[in-house]
Amino acid sequence: MKIVDLKDIRRIYRTESISVDALKGITLQIEEGEFVAIMGPSGSGKSTLMNILGCLDRPTSGRFLLNGEDVSAFSKDKLAKLRNRTLGFVFQSFHLLPRTSAIENVELPLLYHEEGLTWKEIHNRAKKALEVVGLADRLDHTPNELSGGQRQRVAIARALVTEPALLLADEPTGNLDSKTSLEIIDMLQKLNKKGETIIMVTHEHDIAHFANRIITLHDGLVKSDRAIEAKNASDALRNRVDEDELEQIEGVLS
Ligand code: ADP
Ligand code: MG
Repeated sequence: MKIVDLKDIRRIYRTESISVDALKGITLQIEEGEFVAIMGPSGSGKSTLMNILGCLDRPTSGRFLLNGEDVSAFSKDKLAKLRNRTLGFVFQSFHLLPRTSAIENVELPLLYHEEGLTWKEIHNRAKKALEVVGLADRLDHTPNELSGGQRQRVAIARALVTEPALLLADEPTGNLDSKTSLEIIDMLQKLNKKGETIIMVTHEHDIAHFANRIITLHDGLVKSDRAIEAKNASDALRNRVDEDELEQIEGVLS
């Protein structure tokens, strides 16, 4: 089943004086269960493409089927509903509500969800999502009482709580140190192995190689699109721990 089906997608930004061809004809398909990394230099169109995939923006022309539905004809209302039902978002800067507990942050998307869930159901689903990301013991912590990695895990729980068909992550490790980045990627990889479809923008080659497919954009076009043998993030983390220990030992010896 194709989750994403783009045909000749173009996006032109027009202002009074200039027009920018940000996407010049993108055609690609993404199947259920894929973990795709989108790379490309600054200005190549990554964010524009993610905004279209996330139904936050519309293409100037071209056809976009999301989970089999042609979204180009959707009204704003219908689009918002589809977004809530089908998509989860993770951002570089977490976008959590401050002074609001982890569990309340995760409950939030369910309040806008279509199904008439009871308060108790909402609470239980949020709790479960936080358990999945390993934060069962941090439910009542506010973002400023959490580390960067923990904040991003709350954001992932918030994205997953509505059980989206597609998870969109824009530079999810951009604000994290390298070890914490690996932990977040490990989490995404595990979610993907359980069946979650993930599209992730990153400018780091190291991070992209944990995906199963790398699409590179250049100047609004797909420059390359290849399946890869994904590196395993758990292994990378384990090796890294060994390296840390080695450094400590060397520190003691020198
Ligand atoms: P990336 O995320 O790969 O850095 P973007 O999708 O943000 O690239 O931008 C692609 C091109 O579109 C760039 O040339 C950028 O300057 C231009 N652009 C992006 N957003 C707008 C906008 N709102 N108005 C005009 N031009 C824009
Ligand atoms: Mg960008």
